Parts: sequence; structure tokens; C-alpha cells
Amino acid sequence: MSQTNYTDLDYLFKPRSIAIIGASQKDLSIGNVIIKNLVHYGYTGKIYPINPKMDEIRGIKAYPNIFEIEGDIDLAHVIIPAPAVPQTIEDCGKKGIKAVIINSAGFSEMGEEGRALQEAFLANARKYGIRIFGPNCQGIINTDPKFRAYCDFTFTFPKPGGISVVALSGGVGAFIMQSLFDLNIGMRYYASNGNACDVSIPDVIRYYGNDDQTKAIILYTEGLSDPLEFMEVAREVTKKKPILAMKAGRTEAGAKAAASHTGALAGVDISTELIFEKTGILAFNNEEELCQAAMAFSTQPIPMGNRVGVITNTGGPAVIATDELVNSGLQLPPLSEKAKEILRQTQLPEATIGNPIDVVATGGGPHYRSALDVLMDDENIDSIFVNFVTAPFTDTDAVAKNIVEVNQLGKKPIVCNFMTNMSMERFQETARILNEGGVPCYSFPTTAAKALGALYRYGQLRQRNIGTPKQYDPIDRTKVAAIIDAGLKENLDYLPAGSVYTIFETYGIPVAGWRIVKNVEDACKAARVIGFPVVVKAESAEIVHKSDKGGVSINLKNEDDVIRAIEKMQHAFGISGLKFLVQKFMPGGKELIAGVSTKKGLGHMVMFGMGGIYVEVLKDVVFKLTPVTDVESREMLSAIKSAKILDGVRGEKGIDKDGVADILQRVSAMVTDFPAILEMDMNPIMAFENNVFVVDGRIKIGN
Ligand code: ADP
Ligand code: MG
Repeated sequence: MSQTNYTDLDYLFKPRSIAIIGASQKDLSIGNVIIKNLVHYGYTGKIYPINPKMDEIRGIKAYPNIFEIEGDIDLAHVIIPAPAVPQTIEDCGKKGIKAVIINSAGFSEMGEEGRALQEAFLANARKYGIRIFGPNCQGIINTDPKFRAYCDFTFTFPKPGGISVVALSGGVGAFIMQSLFDLNIGMRYYASNGNACDVSIPDVIRYYGNDDQTKAIILYTEGLSDPLEFMEVAREVTKKKPILAMKAGRTEAGAKAAASHTGALAGVDISTELIFEKTGILAFNNEEELCQAAMAFSTQPIPMGNRVGVITNTGGPAVIATDELVNSGLQLPPLSEKAKEILRQTQLPEATIGNPIDVVATGGGPHYRSALDVLMDDENIDSIFVNFVTAPFTDTDAVAKNIVEVNQLGKKPIVCNFMTNMSMERFQETARILNEGGVPCYSFPTTAAKALGALYRYGQLRQRNIGTPKQYDPIDRTKVAAIIDAGLKENLDYLPAGSVYTIFETYGIPVAGWRIVKNVEDACKAARVIGFPVVVKAESAEIVHKSDKGGVSINLKNEDDVIRAIEKMQHAFGISGLKFLVQKFMPGGKELIAGVSTKKGLGHMVMFGMGGIYVEVLKDVVFKLTPVTDVESREMLSAIKSAKILDGVRGEKGIDKDGVADILQRVSAMVTDFPAILEMDMNPIMAFENNVFVVDGRIKIGN
């Protein structure tokens, strides 16, 4: 047995023999249910219940310990109290067991003591090269008829198919598995790894990625412990097959007006979604939609574009579907003249020849068929939405057979909203024909439309060229490093404005002309150099939102204005040694925001949106992970809700979008070069028709 070329995770997913350490004869125990499930599911390998007090369990010979077993063991379940686990893993190592699923709880999820136990068994596992799955987990399932390995204590017995599932949470994993089962979708592998102390989600995804039988992967997670590793694996696997994912714990990026805009606007953990986006994972925020989409992914090809043809035999549902299709970014183009001509000859006189094609309720198999054929042949159509109500006065089986025949050509994706009464035997047969013919059927038009929308969205993701990060040279990085190092040495949280603008300028980011001054004389001199009108701002680490406190005085037209503004601020703030920023006044621009926040273990996220003093209210911002490419910076500009404003509305001029996109990329380069930049804000960036200038900036540093 051991001379095979098994990889370490093969021992977990394709075990040829399994020991159940902690097997029990009690019906209602995990140590019993796992054996029952293995037997019930038709496991093809050897089962070794381990229990010192039993001769047999569920009619299978039991052993007092693993050393009494003669043959090799690929996999062990461990279902014993946590304190005994480290020694058991040591024993497993001695016996040559290659993979262990620890179902027992009581480890890192239980505080310090549990964590120590986890460390202890992990040390033993590493000593012997054992891969640990769990602890505190369900286990794995392999539906392959060669194995039928149901190493899990749940209750859904999936049929074999092409979807592999990995879920951190056993509860969510179980209901995804049940939903797939209810939707009659076949599954390949299932894995729910609990504490995931060794075999991680990226490990499992890589394994699924290399598995030819896995057509699509479903992932559920609540966060990523090693985001960089995850990204690397996800990038590799999404090139080969779709990953449909959902992350829980998302709420509105709700933000209080905190000291730093970007930190607050990032709100809850959005980094996982950004990772999904960057690596080409199809994200869902609804578990039902995810499972429904999986049905389409498991049988249908990916559409080449967004043009959908709709066939229906009843009006209203097609209208509902059309709304949702359009919502999902799909279009219903008009049919070609040639197509219409064929339809006129083949459809009933009452039929509507257009898109949607309404074959009317009396339309039967041949009418559906000609409509399907026409759409399949039409170069202007990428996918087909079928709405099919089982009109009792038609041969519904014939309709189903025709849909199946066309579906099996596999030329363009088809989804079907199938409206029927499943308690009638006649229609059960119709449903069976569709189902066995691999037609994804849904019971609501919106659900079906969303599933097609997901296929389209994935097609877009797959075709998308994410671009490359620009190399900006020459940049005087030594100069920036010196500024940041000095700030760190002084234990500064925020760099002074002078340093901030110097860093921006060094990175080629356009800033409004500026000087830092200490008194009115210097301020007047600076204003003359910069050129009137100017703005004066109070400059002190203690003042965060300057304008709230009277620390910003704009449109100063002459020296008298400057003197008055400075004296007023000196009086109002009473900070000794208060400095001032004298800056070029740049009126009439659109106020935008760019920012950066960091996520431990991952890196920086760059933000862009509508800026100014309303940013916290409008929250019209989007994020991307660094490095931000040229393509992504463009996507950011078009992803905000107010995107149209950037092009100019109602006779207004648009803004220099290239300039903004360039700033976003330079910001990305800057923070990538200097991880010590923890947060950064440019609010506002003043954007004009042909240029853009940063007029307010903050940089937070730290280690
Ligand atoms: P803070 O955000 O600390 O309150 P800002 O420097 O952003 O201070 O100034 C507040 C507002 O004043 C900006 O949103 C902008 O409307 C206006 N403003 C500031 N500097 C300039 C400038 N140089 N040109 C034109 N308007 C400016
Ligand atoms: Mg500001």
C-alpha cells in the first residue's frame, strides 16, 4: 500500500483504511456515527474501530489500540478527550498513520490551556510528518465510488458530481452540502476543518485545484488566517476553475467620523472581499444564491458575453426575469432578421417574435425547439434563459426533451425557470427529464436570472485583464525613508504636514504649492512666492479636522488677509509654536478622497471616493488591495456611486481621470515601498478638467 505515489492530502481525502480512535457503541456518539456513516455510505476501505473495552462495534472487529492492527492505516479519526490527544498523535506517528482528523474540541478555541494542548499534538505531528485536519471539526467526504469515504458525522449523503466544498464552519458546510443535495447537484469533495491548525483552507483549495474531477469549488470562510498564502493559491486555482465564495461577517462599511477617514471608512473587515476580487474568486453575499449558482456552474459553459436570449411561454415571469437579468449586467439584444424570419415560419401565429420570444402557453416541443435553435445559432446571443410553465394542455415532456437536446450540445449556457406542481406525477417526469439532461432548473424567475448573472460575472472575471503595477522611477526613496525613520524615532503617530507634502511630491503626486511658516512675515513672503490667492491652515499634530476648529482660512487675496487669518488662529488655538501651512488656493475643483489603511498580515488597501467634508456622510468610496494596477485604478474611478459626476453632469466639465488614476497608483507604490505607512489620507484632492492637486494630506506611521 505504501508504495503508491500518494501526496500527503491524498491520505486524508482518499484513505484506504481508517482507524476510529474513540469508537463507541453508543448510538448517540460521534465515535459511533462516523462508523455508521462510513458503512452506510459504502466506504470501500478498511475500518478499524479502536476501543480498549470492546471486541466489536457495529459488527466490525474493534482493537484495543492501533498497534494491534496488522495492516497500514492511512487516516485516523480522533474522538477522545483533548488532554489525551498529544500522546495519541505520538502513537499515530509510531504506527505510520499519515493523516489525522481530530474531531475532538477543547483546543485553541478554549483559551490558553487548550492552545498548549494544540501546540503539543502539533509538535508530535510534525515530528512524524502527520497532516492534522481540525481539531474541533467535522471532517471530509469523498464521493468517488472508488472510496466513498464519509469521514464526517453529518447526515447528508451527497451524490457524486463536480462541486467540491470547503467550509471553515461545519454548520455552514453542512447546510451548503444539504442545499446542493436538495438541488440535485453532485459533489466531489467536502471538507470542514474547524480550527484548521495544520491543513488550511489554501491547502484544501490547492488540492481541489489539482483534482481533475472538481469542476468548481465552493468556499465559505469567516476570515483568512494567512491572506498572502491564500492569495497565492487562489490566483493559481482560479486560472483553472471557478471558485464561488462567501465570507460572513460583512456589514455596511459603517464608519464613525474617526480621526482618520480611511480607517473608519474601511469599517469592518472588507479585506477578504478585496482578496476575492483581486484573485478572481466569484463572491456571493447570500448563501442561497451561491448554491443556486453552483447548479448552473456544475452543468453549464461560461457565456462569452452579456447578451441573453429569453424564451418563455408566459408573459409575467419573463418580465421579472428580464429585470433581474438587466440588473446583473446582461442585455436582451434584438434578434437578427434571419432569426425572426425562421421564427415566423416555425412559431404559432399568436407567438411574439422578438427577445423575449413568447412561444405562448400552447407552444409545444417543436416551438421551444425552433426558438432554442435560433438563439443557439444567433451570433448576437451568448446565453439562453428559458421560462417554462408546464401548461397542462401541452406535451411538457416533449418540451423538456427538446430543451435537454439543445442543452447537451453545450454550445451556450442555458438556465431554466421551471414552474410546475411537483406533486403531480406527470410533471415529476418532466422535471426528471430536465434534471437528468443537466438543465439547471429554478423555481423563481429571479433566482434563475441571478444564476445566469453569476455565470456571466464569472466569465467577466476570467476574461478580465487585471493589468500590472506601474514602476515609477526615478523616485528618491532614500529621502522618504529618512523622513519616515526620523518620525519613527521620535515616536510620531502622524507626520507633520511638511513631511507629508514632501513625501507626496517625491512620489510625483501633484500637490498645491505650499510652504510651512512660523510667523506672519514668513507667511506673507510665502504667499508672494506661491501667488495670491492663498489658503492658510493651522499646522499642529493636535489639530485633526482643521476646518471644524477654524484652522482653515481660504481665498486670502492679499497680505492683510493673510496677517488677519494667522492672528486669528494664533488667538483661537493658543498653541505655543503653532505653525502654519500657506497653500495655493485652488477653487472650483471637485473634491475627491484617496486613502490607505492596513490590515495585519495582508498589507495596504487603497481607497478612492468622493471627498471633502461630506465623506463620512456619503461613504461613496471603494477599496482595492495593493498593488493597484492601471486597470484597477480605472475600475476604482468607475466603481463609485457618483462615477458619472467625474464625467461632468448637466453641462459641467468632467475631471482629469487619468490624473486621479495616476495618483492612486503612485499612492499604491508609495505604501508598498514603505510598510511603515499605516494610514494615509488625501482629502480633498482638488480635481479639475485637466489637472488634479492634493490640498490636504495626512500620514500615520508605525511599526
Ligand atoms: P480639514 O480636512 O482638516 O478640515 P482641509 O485642508 O481639508 O482641512 O480643508 C477643508 C476644506 O477647505 C477642504 O475640503 C476644501 O473644501 C477647502 N480647502 C482647503 N484647502 C484648499 C485649497 N488649497 N484650495 C481650495 N480649497 C481648499
Ligand atoms: Mg481635509
